[in-house]
Amino acid sequence: MSRNTQAIISLDNIRSNFLLANQWAPQSKNMAVIKADAYGHGLLAVAEALQSLVPAFAVAIFDEAVALRNGGITKNILILQGVNCATELTYASENDCWITLHNKQQIDLLLATKLKQPLKVWLKLDTGMHRLGLDQKQFDKSLQLIKQCRWIADDFVVSSHFSCASELANGESKKQFNKFNEMITEAKLPSNIELSLSNSPAIAHLPESNLNWNRPGIMLYGLPLFDGPHSSDQQLKAAMSFESEVVAIREVETGEYVGYSNKWQATRPSKIATVSVGYADGYPRQAKNGTPVLVKGERASLAGVVSMDLIGVDVTDLSNVSIGDPVELWGEHLSANEVASYANTIGYDLISGVSRRVPRVYK
Ligand SMILES: *Cc1c(COP(=O)(O)O)cnc(C)c1O
Repeated sequence: MSRNTQAIISLDNIRSNFLLANQWAPQSKNMAVIKADAYGHGLLAVAEALQSLVPAFAVAIFDEAVALRNGGITKNILILQGVNCATELTYASENDCWITLHNKQQIDLLLATKLKQPLKVWLKLDTGMHRLGLDQKQFDKSLQLIKQCRWIADDFVVSSHFSCASELANGESKKQFNKFNEMITEAKLPSNIELSLSNSPAIAHLPESNLNWNRPGIMLYGLPLFDGPHSSDQQLKAAMSFESEVVAIREVETGEYVGYSNKWQATRPSKIATVSVGYADGYPRQAKNGTPVLVKGERASLAGVVSMDLIGVDVTDLSNVSIGDPVELWGEHLSANEVASYANTIGYDLISGVSRRVPRVYK
């Protein structure tokens, strides 16, 4: 019998979440962002499930594109960070990968590496996030250079990325949107050039930023998209249920402690369930006392510091808890975002951090 700690993945929910992007942004081509092992849901399984629905995939790094090709995925793939050497460039051009160009080094490399067939590039602009992207001067210069390069396809894309799209009251996205338009206008682009701005929260909330291409990621996995309630919350379906089970139960008296370093102390006679999941599985070590945990579908709370392979849960207020009872760490009935808020992080971090020790089970 294997340990019952699993990430149950609903590919149906991922497909239905993807279709919401088409519903919210019907004018755009929505590519599925499946970087970081499809945010922890399994790169190839998710790619196979979405292949027939999407116009293209996006991954963060070159190795992820190679893993998709080696796994038999034939759709176009955008490599969001682009490539770093001639070998990767050649591979990209021969394997229908599109590459981001976000700095001068990448552009120089492309100009210096003779390719046999045209490569589609995505020029990335820095509109205020100051992470990756070209400024106006570099953009204008790059347009001059790539016009003359035979192996850069002339239907390139110009993109940028929002820093605060999930914050409903933040005006930064509007600023970035205006900056993007200014940079495009200033550059006098040819008319066949396509544009791309929106990530998931922008798709749901900033219709004007839904341009030729959108890049939905987190919404595919069904997490709530915003820092406050939003109408999209009811439509998205959590794709991952991170589940485990109770492996021990004990009564502790008032004043007794639970877990390493005695960080939880019983203030009443308490019942503690030990659950077989820990930080080596991707349950966040920073999760505080009181973090919600569902035991047999009922809310209980984390008691004590998260161990490598186990956690303690205060189930005093639940009736009839026994060994083998099912536990949901996050999923359909408990949002990863809520758990994340007790661990000083965000839902993206939790779902993409479920470790390799945890089997992914698809339904
Ligand atoms: C990860 C990423 C996305 C997807 O963002 P979500 O917030 O998960 O929808 C889109 N664009 C870029 C450049 C990214 O790095």
